Amino acid sequence: MTDLCELVPGHIRGIAPYQPGKPISELERELGLTRIIKLASNENPLGPSPRALEAIRGALPELALYPDGNGFELKSALARRFSLTREQVVLGNGSNDVLELAARTFLGPGTSAVFSEHAFAVYPLVTQAVGATGIEVPARNFAHDLEAMIAAIRPDTRILFVANPNNPTGSLIAGPMLRAALERVPSRVLIVLDEAYTEYLEPAHRYDAVTWLHQRPNLLISRTFSKAYGLAGLRVGFGLARPAVIDLMNRVRQPFNVSSLALVAAQAALGDLEFLERTRALNTAGLAQLAEGFRRLGLSFIPSHGNFLSVEVGDSARIYQSLLRQGIIVRPVAGYRMPRHLRISVGLPEENAACLAALERALQEAP
Ligand SMILES: *Cc1c(COP(=O)(O)O)cnc(C)c1O
Repeated sequence: MTDLCELVPGHIRGIAPYQPGKPISELERELGLTRIIKLASNENPLGPSPRALEAIRGALPELALYPDGNGFELKSALARRFSLTREQVVLGNGSNDVLELAARTFLGPGTSAVFSEHAFAVYPLVTQAVGATGIEVPARNFAHDLEAMIAAIRPDTRILFVANPNNPTGSLIAGPMLRAALERVPSRVLIVLDEAYTEYLEPAHRYDAVTWLHQRPNLLISRTFSKAYGLAGLRVGFGLARPAVIDLMNRVRQPFNVSSLALVAAQAALGDLEFLERTRALNTAGLAQLAEGFRRLGLSFIPSHGNFLSVEVGDSARIYQSLLRQGIIVRPVAGYRMPRHLRISVGLPEENAACLAALERALQEAP
């Protein structure tokens, strides 16, 4: 008898599953711990914006109705924020959905996508899922080597994925450099510029890729409400590009891919600039606190522009397990070919301190 699973194409069976951060509830079940700190998924330690919560409460009575499949209000708010039109905005069930929509729209068998070593795991995943070939370009000092990435573009390449800042390394390509390099990407290649952490950039590092859309018909910018806006659990993100690109992506998009609660919460969060500023200030202080702690422990780390730091601990599996036993969840990144590192998200000051103390104990334990 034929097993139907064996008939599934090899490119699907060959996918390496995404490894999410361990949920708090899982560690509770496994170890019976009650006070757990999760610094594993780059979530906002302040929680969601209070305005988003209020909007959600207001929308609850409408839950029997389907959401607005065109996301008119949220798209209007985003268009106003970025001085674009609604036709230049696509909404996603998280920005992972936007990345996948790009892959399903522009890739397929016989095409390829270029991305960097140590880049976000979703790029190879969505590429492989549609039967396209992933071309991984060696990183330089844990950062994207843009020159090498552009040189790796083949005649069949349709997408170039660039994460800026990148996760899990936190590396940043300076705006002017990025802009100049992207000008040399052939027009048949869609540049997917993933800016999931752009809201965390310090003023000196900020750049505005949205204005590049006017000169770059092959640019798609992806952003999310999961990180600085504190709405990871709701799943909402968006893509910005020229109308023709957005129109094609909308054709493969599920009609109701963003829930009604996500739509109203995202719109409210977008307007809560005070929350965004608090988030940024907390993150800047937290990065400094963790960096200082790592230095004190004699650990080297990759300077980060995100809300996380990847720190070199050596035997990362052992340290990870020790931290778990102490009730601290961080993220192993061996799957990103960084077997000596752990990625630690910035938490509240007391969470960062607890993590550093646990890390010190873990390092002192006999191997
Ligand atoms: C967290 C993250 C995202 C956002 O994912 P969502 O689906 O929006 O939650 C996108 N890209 C990178 C590089 C990330 O780290």
